[in-house]
Parts: sequence; C-alpha cells; structure tokens
Amino acid sequence: MQINVTEYLDRTVQLFPQKIAVDDIHKSLTFSQIQKQARALAGLIIEQGLQNAPVAVCMQKGCDMVACFAAISYSGNFYVPIDMKSPDSRIKNIFDSLRSKVIITNKANDDRLKSFFDGKIILIENVENIEPDASVEKLIHSRQERVIDTDPVYSIFTSGSTGNPKGVVISHRGVIDYMDWAISTFSVNEKAVIANQAPFYFDNSTLDLYLMFGAGATLVIVPEEYYAFPAKLIDLLNEKKINFVFWVPFVLINVANYNLLEQKKPEYLEKILFAGEVMPNKHLNYWRKNLPDCLYANLYGPTEITVDCTCYIVDREFSDEEPLPVGKPCRNSGILILTEDNRAAKVNETGELCVRGSSLAMGYYNDPERTAKSFVQNPLNIHYPELIYRTGDMAYWNERGEVMYVGRRDFQIKHNGYRIELGEIENAVLGTKSVDTACVIYNHTRKEIEMFYQAADELNAGEFRKRMMEFVPKYMVPTKYYRLEKFPLSANGKIDRLKLAEQISG
Ligand code: AMP
Repeated sequence: MQINVTEYLDRTVQLFPQKIAVDDIHKSLTFSQIQKQARALAGLIIEQGLQNAPVAVCMQKGCDMVACFAAISYSGNFYVPIDMKSPDSRIKNIFDSLRSKVIITNKANDDRLKSFFDGKIILIENVENIEPDASVEKLIHSRQERVIDTDPVYSIFTSGSTGNPKGVVISHRGVIDYMDWAISTFSVNEKAVIANQAPFYFDNSTLDLYLMFGAGATLVIVPEEYYAFPAKLIDLLNEKKINFVFWVPFVLINVANYNLLEQKKPEYLEKILFAGEVMPNKHLNYWRKNLPDCLYANLYGPTEITVDCTCYIVDREFSDEEPLPVGKPCRNSGILILTEDNRAAKVNETGELCVRGSSLAMGYYNDPERTAKSFVQNPLNIHYPELIYRTGDMAYWNERGEVMYVGRRDFQIKHNGYRIELGEIENAVLGTKSVDTACVIYNHTRKEIEMFYQAADELNAGEFRKRMMEFVPKYMVPTKYYRLEKFPLSANGKIDRLKLAEQISG
C-alpha cells in the first residue's frame, strides 16, 4: 500500500528518467532532473531540523516550484504554496498562522520577503547544480521511513470569513486516495500532455501535479496571460500537443464567448475536465458541438476534501438552460445530503452537501475552532466517531442518483474561479478606514463584486482601490460602489443583504 506521495516520483523516475516532466515555456525539467533538484533541496530543509512542519513556497509558478514541492515532501514536511500577487500584509498573515520557521523563495522575491519575514529563507538558486551526496540520501531515507499516510502533504490557504485566510491541511492519504480514483477513471498514462491553468495555491492544481508525478504525464504550465487571450491559448495547446485539461469553467466560458472554436480548434485535445464553479450547459454545448469526440467531465469538491468528491462524465444531451449534474461520489468518497434537522434528504429534496471518507482534510492549521465547526460528527452515525465535512453547498439527489448543485448557504462566492468569502473583503474595506460601514454583494449577472457603504463623503474610487490592494489581492477588490444614507435591515436587525442584492440585480 502506498503511504507517501514521494513514491510517485521515485517510481516514475525509474520508468521515464529522461522524459519531460514539467515545461513552463521558459524552461523544462525531466523527471530525473526534478528528483535530483528536489533531493538536494530536501537536504537543506532537513538541516533546519523541521519535521511535519509547514514550509511556504514563495515564487511565481514554474518548474522550480514543482521541484520545491517534491523537496518538501522528501524532507518529511508539508508545502504551502503562496500567492505572490497577494499584498505583503496577507502573506504575513499566512506566515503568522503557520508560525513559519523556514520558507523557500528565489532571488526575485528574496528582498520583498525579508522585509516582513525573519525566519530562515532558502533560495532555490542555491541548489540548482548541487548533486545530493550520500549523506543527504541517508537523511532523506531515514525521514521517509517515518512518514505515515495521515501526515500532512500540503496546506492550501482559502479565503476566511473573519478576514484571515485559513490553511486547509491535506494528508498523503487524501492525495493518494484521490489520485487512485483519478488515474483509473480517466485512464491517464505517460502519453498525457496536460495544460495547467490552476494556480498552485488553488487545489485543482493537485490533479495536474500528481498526474505528472504519478502517471508520468507531461505538465505544461501555461502562463496566466494566455487565459486572457484565448486565441493565443489555442495556438499554444496545438504547439504543445495538449490532450488533457482540467480548468475552471471560467476559461471554457471565455473561449465560447469569443466563438473561437469555429475558427481554430485545439487539435490534440481528448479530455476536458472542469471544476470549481458552475459550468453552464450553454457554454458546454458550444464545446460539445465543436469538439464532439472529447470526453467532458464536471468535477466537484471543496479544498477541504482533497480536490473532488463527485464527478459527472457527460453522457447525455442537455438544453442550454438545464443545470449540469455534479454527478456521483468518486470512489471511496461518501456523500450525504442533510436537511436542516440533520435527516438524509430524499430524492429532489435540497439539503447541505456533506462528505465523509479518507479524503477529508486534517482540519485548518492552528485553528481548532474553525476546524470543529466544519468537521463534525456524522449525525447519521451515533455508534462510533466518524467525521464529516459540512461544505456549505446546497444540493439534491436527482432520480438518476446524481448530485445536483444548487448554491451556497453562506457568503462564499466564486469569482473568476477564485473562492472568496465576502466577509474577508468587508474586513479589508474597514481596514482602509475609508468608510463607516460596508456590505459587499456579488452581482451574479454582471459577475462583479459590488459594495454598499455609509460614509460622510463620497468615496474616491481610485484611492480606495489602492488602499484595498494593501490588504487583499486585486481580484477581491469591489469594482462598483453605492453610497447609502441607511442600510435596509431585516427583521432580526441585520443588514438585509437580499434587499441589497435585489437593487443591483439585472
Ligand atoms: P475550492 O475550495 O476553491 O475548490 O471551492 C469549492 C467550492 O467551489 C465548492 O464548495 C462549491 O461551492 C464550488 N464548486 C466546486 N466545483 C463546483 C462545480 N463543479 N459546480 C458548482 N460549484 C462548484
């Protein structure tokens, strides 16, 4: 039984040492080069005396980052990919919640990080040409012997409603369980050439990374700017002979909206997987019409259950207006849909989607309170301890035994594929000291974050946006502002968000 994700890379190096593992357009690494670089770096991490500890990886996405992840796993610690486009204050918040002692970065980011991090900084450039010697190999070996499959492999920070991002901790078991299912369900082998879209601080990237490590696929890291220019993106897919993608629907929708596939087709594409937000059938139908021979799959899952827990491989026709199912539970994942009074929902009855199984995260790092709120005893099992994760997503079973996604029960949104808590934005707004009170609403029609506020004076939008970017990444900054004399209140005296949402809908 596999217990450690490093076994993937070790096995693949045996099979395909000289095959390209990762290509980030500027440079590429073979499997054996990744292994060599990772093991040399692991030696430096072990020297710091850490075990089962978080090591943040702070650099722009590329081949080096992939080698860092492998290195941290070899060292018996867990990696934490950092969004370097976040403002310093947010990154510092993450370091504080991790109580980080060691981070890995490159020369391009070193000075920036030194200004607010005073622990040990390891530079990736320092290991580029080092050959790991016998003593390092021995250290790694003894570390690896002690890893068990419930040890953490990575932590991904997601937006937190109280203002601070929360670090979801995922185990080796979770990744192995998920990858066993994914590799066999989609028959992935070394012939797969994958175009990576998901940022590494977003857990969809786990599938891309471990199909590369585990199935010997080649991972092409597509620079972000390509997704803003779909015509360039399709040229690149053809140039690199991409046959597999796992993208957020936003990207597929964008290509459809430009009506690009009628002019240019991604000729090698065979499997098109998507997850992260609702995929409208209107846009999916456009893809299906233009690329009828491809396999399409709608995957669903929050970071807290290791990427995905349900899957629907598209097998029938849908009209543009119909919702697409998120499908059936992945192998070894248990799905419960619970009503308000914690009963199992009947067919067509909406309730909260909850998940049980080996894929559940270990919890939120250094945050027992939030962990206890979301990871709770299965109310349908009173006989022994069994945790479920309450996703906050509302769903129902249809007559075919498929899960249908309905929406959220809280203030979490998906905007351009990013998972965001409106509460985190509201906290940042107050942090700017530009307004007295604020309420942030997502306009689902215009796909915009909009803000209602009370203040003595009209907001200076330019200055406000600049101040906001000291607290949150650009994609979280509201783009429309409405000044109110008074907020509408609901019966219990809270701001009536529904009424505000009605004002901006349409
Ligand atoms: P994340 O933790 O960033 O993966 O976001 C998880 C959330 O994204 C889920 O709780 C859902 O609200 C939403 N989501 C993920 N996949 C889908 C999907 N296929 N359809 C609809 N919503 C989805």
